[in-house]
Amino acid sequence: MHQLTLAEIARGLADKKFSSEELTKTLLARIAQLDPQLNSFITLTEDLALEQAKAADARRANGESGALLGAPIAHKDLFCTLGVRTSCASKMLDNFKAPYDATVVAKLAAAGAVSLGKTNMDEFAMGSANESSYYGAVKNPWNLDHVPGGSSGGSAAAVAARLLPAATGTDTGGSIRQPAALTNLTGLKPTYGRVSRWGMIAYASSLDQAGPLARTAEDCAILLQGMAGFDPQDSTSIDEPVPDFSANLNGSLKGLRIGVPKEFFSEGLDTRIAELIHNSIKELEKLGAVIKPISLPNMQHAIPAYYVIAPAEASSNLSRFDGVRFGHRCEKPKDLTDLYKRSRAEGFGPEVQRRILVGAYALSAGYYDAYYLQAQKIRRLIKNDFMAAFNEVDIILGPTTPNPAWKIGAKNSDPVSAYLEDVYTITANLAGLPGLSMPAGFVDGLPVGVQLLAPYFQEGRLLNVAHQYQLNTDWHTRSPAGF
Ligand code: GLN
Repeated sequence: MHQLTLAEIARGLADKKFSSEELTKTLLARIAQLDPQLNSFITLTEDLALEQAKAADARRANGESGALLGAPIAHKDLFCTLGVRTSCASKMLDNFKAPYDATVVAKLAAAGAVSLGKTNMDEFAMGSANESSYYGAVKNPWNLDHVPGGSSGGSAAAVAARLLPAATGTDTGGSIRQPAALTNLTGLKPTYGRVSRWGMIAYASSLDQAGPLARTAEDCAILLQGMAGFDPQDSTSIDEPVPDFSANLNGSLKGLRIGVPKEFFSEGLDTRIAELIHNSIKELEKLGAVIKPISLPNMQHAIPAYYVIAPAEASSNLSRFDGVRFGHRCEKPKDLTDLYKRSRAEGFGPEVQRRILVGAYALSAGYYDAYYLQAQKIRRLIKNDFMAAFNEVDIILGPTTPNPAWKIGAKNSDPVSAYLEDVYTITANLAGLPGLSMPAGFVDGLPVGVQLLAPYFQEGRLLNVAHQYQLNTDWHTRSPAGF
């Protein structure tokens, strides 16, 4: 049963082949057996899951239907969940039980999805390897010595290992697409504003966006449908109609114009990955797509701009964790300043502290114009590059990452080398565009992802292209040995 996709589960439940309760029990047992190898969960909510599964079975018995009704999922541990620990993988929030559900959590629960628990992640979503978690690193099921990517690494490892069919993630600079690529999954970062950020603990508010991680584009369509939509509680949520993503997967790719930016194939890209990306381009050409070389001339400035803007916003967002209102508080403070200092020094790990320092520096008087303002100008130039490109093409295609998954610990002494792994993903966040990563092959037994980017609110187009590609390739069906 653990091999079933969300789409297959929906059919199985509708045909009464099994109940949600049976499925949930099977997956919980599988998690108990296999997750000790992976460390993909921070908290399991068995009782709640069984309650939700029984309720979903009862709703089906009463004649209700729906693709998510009774479907097991899990949430990245930065979505607030009522009465359940929401830790952001930080010691700071180790004791925090959210007093409400995030909109994404509430919407999926209302659609009947069964939440098995909260998945591991990089602390406060800062990272690309899931090594910065207070609860320990997550392992890649394709090779347990390697990272699964991050920051949604727990969601990715769990889905890739068939512990569950799909999970939520968030993507500030690549944290859905990059772990999807490194674990052979399909992952989608929607347009900024498509999915509510209410109740999603903020890293960099102008870049953060939640989305689905699953094995197929078909399943991403199902999960995204349950997550997307206007939310008056999020002031950056956009009141744009949500199309029926599943109904629109079968469009023909005949004449689809795919732009391939030369900057996506520059120095630093593993040549074996480049070859796999060219193979996927050929595959899409066979399906009728037309390839056009394009250029995104300001792409080289994206990493420096992102690593000013994201830490700047993080330093502001994380100022609320001060040991006074909630979160970790140090023992026996001497005075208020000591309380702030020690609570934050003890509660935040080294990567989070590094980002807070960089962000506070970039925002400080005297440096604001030199760093933050310049970075915002670059952000606009990058957006303009995309707008110009999308006048000529319908989709942009390239690699998701320059390298396959690296060994756990390999980049610990050099944070910048990990930052460089985001080179192809962060431009979409800076511009607010939707992006998807899907399986494109293997290098040394490790998965490789191909990335697709589309104009604002064209998630449906991304899912359509990915689904057609997956009907004609089988990379996404491969599963890691031992799982
Ligand atoms: N790796 C990037 C960072 O560390 C992106 C993380 C994310 O998307 N949450 O900021």
